[in-house]
Amino acid sequence: MVSVRTRIAPSPTGDPHVGTAYMALFNWAYARANGGEFLLRIEDTDAERSTVESEQSIYDALRWLGLDWDEGPDVGGAHAPYRQSERQDTYQEHIATLLNNDHAFHCFCSKERLDEVRQAQQKAKQTTRYDGHCIGLTEEEVHRRLTAGESHVIRMVVPEAGDCIFADRLRGEISIPYTQVDMQVLMKADGMPTYHFAVVVDDHLMAITHIIRGEEWISSVPKHKLLYGYLDWQLPELIHLPLLRNTDQSKLSKRKNPTGINYYRALGILPESLLNYLALMGYSMPDEREIFSRSEMVEVFDIDRVSVRGPVFDQEKLSWMNGQYLRALSQAEFAERVVDWLSPDRLRDLIPLVQERVQKLSDLVPIADYMLGSRAALTEQDFAIDKLERTDVVRILYHTSMRLEQVREWNRDTLMLICQAGAEQLDYKFRDFLRPLFVAISGRLVSLPLFDSLVYLGPDLSRARLREALDVLKVSGKEKKRLDKELR
Ligand code: GLU
Repeated sequence: MVSVRTRIAPSPTGDPHVGTAYMALFNWAYARANGGEFLLRIEDTDAERSTVESEQSIYDALRWLGLDWDEGPDVGGAHAPYRQSERQDTYQEHIATLLNNDHAFHCFCSKERLDEVRQAQQKAKQTTRYDGHCIGLTEEEVHRRLTAGESHVIRMVVPEAGDCIFADRLRGEISIPYTQVDMQVLMKADGMPTYHFAVVVDDHLMAITHIIRGEEWISSVPKHKLLYGYLDWQLPELIHLPLLRNTDQSKLSKRKNPTGINYYRALGILPESLLNYLALMGYSMPDEREIFSRSEMVEVFDIDRVSVRGPVFDQEKLSWMNGQYLRALSQAEFAERVVDWLSPDRLRDLIPLVQERVQKLSDLVPIADYMLGSRAALTEQDFAIDKLERTDVVRILYHTSMRLEQVREWNRDTLMLICQAGAEQLDYKFRDFLRPLFVAISGRLVSLPLFDSLVYLGPDLSRARLREALDVLKVSGKEKKRLDKELR
């Protein structure tokens, strides 16, 4: 019997997502339940967006949750390296095989030409995909253009007709016509592989037996399956888990729900209750009990019990569950958890902000209450701010909340620039612009410096507070639509 090997393959961009923890949990549970191995691979082929901080925070978050991996960049293993950026030679070797067998081709098309093709297809209401322009280039021409150093990518060949048929363990047989499958770029102009190529090469070479991942990847299976066939490899078993949803059934997004693991950690959600809650997403224990530990889960784990209907990630249910866990602790354990939560790290980052503002140590508590704990509940009255009407307050809060969603580098300078630009665009004095933000974030007009507070609280918590403020101000859908227009 081949031993079961599963993997989680996050991209190290931004804050670790609860969706990553969800996938990690099910991959981990499947491997542990079957006496197999669970791997962690870092998919960092997007050099521009990948950061070492994000990679580190993935390790920290998964360890905090108690999910351990047998192989990975930080622990090594027989199939190292586990960071895709370090596997260039391997990808080169396999792209050469594909090129030699005419399963891939060089493509020299310019961005302008590709744009034109796409626009024409859109106009004709066709699936937008590469039109095969470079597939017929002669060997001599390719050679000449490569020698001349022309920028190019490498694409895969896709059959012109027929269907790709494959099985998903939870959904049965799925069929996708090849006419809907793009001639995917496998190697980018910078020589880096794309996800679709690297994932196939790595899953095969790392001897992955079961690919457990989100349902958003189902439509990519035809590309992957073709590549497995071209390289004469065996396709692992496919298990696509349902995506987590917001309470309105849309895909879980930071626009509506905090999605960062660190958000829940900072809030004081215990790792075991977050994990337990994630385990209930589309899954149930054979005896239907709701509270269980990860080892209890592994003991009776049965992946076929996963239901593919989109599970709703509900904050209130999570808080309820966390309360159950907190009450089940002994008083000594509870005290330990509090100390853990109020870690030296959390305090350390606060010191530079409070030290120069206190006379007694106890002054720390009222000054930093909203940083460490929840801020006071807001009322509409809190936003009765001098010189600003309700519509001004709403504009400023809405504008800022939308802009903050696009921030990749959550630091003081970026946040300040965004607010400065916002004040200019909406035509307010910078000072006036900031005042509703102070209230939304801290619950009062005067608090610790705003940008430092935002940095300390982090993106999820900051955005959640702005959203709550907009709720308190009862901003209607119609009003938001109008504001969206203004934003554009
Ligand atoms: N890097 C991909 C992601 O971030 C991995 C998808 C997969 O598991 O194949 O979701």
